[in-house]
Amino acid sequence: MKTLLILSFLLLNFCFAFAQDRPLQIIMIGAHPDDCDIKGGGTAALFVAMGHHVKFLSVTNGDAGHQSQGGGMLAKRRIAETKEVAKRLGVSYDVLDNHDGELLPTLSIRMEIIRKIREWKADVVIAPRTNDYHPDHRYTGVLVQDAAFMVGVPNVAPDVEPLRKNPIFLYFQDNFKKPNPFQADIAVDITQVIDKKLAGLDAHQSQFYEWLPWIGNYEEEVPSDPAKHKEYLLNKRVQKPNPEVRKALEKWYGKEKIDQIKYAEAFEICEYGSPASMEDIKRIFPMLGK
Ligand SMILES: [Zn+2]
Repeated sequence: MKTLLILSFLLLNFCFAFAQDRPLQIIMIGAHPDDCDIKGGGTAALFVAMGHHVKFLSVTNGDAGHQSQGGGMLAKRRIAETKEVAKRLGVSYDVLDNHDGELLPTLSIRMEIIRKIREWKADVVIAPRTNDYHPDHRYTGVLVQDAAFMVGVPNVAPDVEPLRKNPIFLYFQDNFKKPNPFQADIAVDITQVIDKKLAGLDAHQSQFYEWLPWIGNYEEEVPSDPAKHKEYLLNKRVQKPNPEVRKALEKWYGKEKIDQIKYAEAFEICEYGSPASMEDIKRIFPMLGK
């Protein structure tokens, strides 16, 4: 009976994945080796469960993100953490070797990003907006905006085949208001996969239990008992849907489902990618409404 259930689950996912002619290719791009996990880990887990392919790309190596470690040793530790995330979430995780805290939107890094998007044959690219508090986040946003459109220009980074179609570019959710607040165009219900998302965050031991509590002055809140880490991460790192996100959830899932949705991740459409109609969004986010 159990085998039959597993088989029908796999078959169902197979059908979702190939409702179009091939699995979707999603690339999420963050500045640091935990950014994509925080903003998109649940959505990534849903894509993977449906047979689609997700890559997380960190534009810096995270070598400044600790109070008592740093440089190459820290970068190595953080790369090992991304490998653990890759295992836990079923994503591919790449880290570019640029210094943390020193990122600038240079031409050479733009080229690196163009190559990564092309090599992944991305249908969807998700990155931060450019009005974030952290300079690395802001410049990652700029670098990805600068890569949009250019991914299809053959004479730019000619060593990697250009994409024939500009992907759909999206922004991760943030709470910054100026010059304009985040607009929740898409909201994904991640309630069913919240444990997966937390497992991804838990792999970044250097961050969630060491660096972030230190820089945020809340070290005493970190439970010493690892059995309590999941609850801690849930309270500290997972936002409840705000009214704007709830509105988007209502649009994609219907009024009757809204009260069952406890956790969500939201995205805004970037104007520099391919235009995204309602139908396009339903195709590239096949979990919407389910
Ligand atoms: Zn970051």
